Amino acid sequence: MKVMCAACKVTNNVAEEKMRKNLVRCGKCKEPLTPDAPGYPVEVAPGSFNFQVKESECPVLLDLWGPGCPPCRQLAPLLKDLAKELVGKIKVAKVNVQEQPAAANAFQVRGVPTLLLFKQGQEVARTAGFMPYPELRKFVAQVL
Ligand SMILES: [Zn+2]
Repeated sequence: MKVMCAACKVTNNVAEEKMRKNLVRCGKCKEPLTPDAPGYPVEVAPGSFNFQVKESECPVLLDLWGPGCPPCRQLAPLLKDLAKELVGKIKVAKVNVQEQPAAANAFQVRGVPTLLLFKQGQEVARTAGFMPYPELRKFVAQVL
């Protein structure tokens, strides 16, 4: 997986298995990497929800999105920017509800995009629809 160094912003390629077990340092500046907030949106695979979201040490912004949804497409680059800006501080995670309808049902999500904010595995806030970057930034600020 790609992990951006929070200190020098260099991209490190690290095996996910290695990240789970060991402390991994940035290849360039040797600062410890934070795989839990890797600087890139993470696709939550079926079956890894607990690991990726519930047990995450850092707060998680979960984007429930669907293909063919224009506001979802508009939001995608902003979520990338957010993950980059807040590398090491927040994890941006994504679930495609068309592939994983059970996830949408579990959270009683009726429309996409829906953004859920988790802190220590608990949902603390949610919002729906497209929003510009400053609003997105304000939304996640409540868990930082
Ligand atoms: Zn570094």
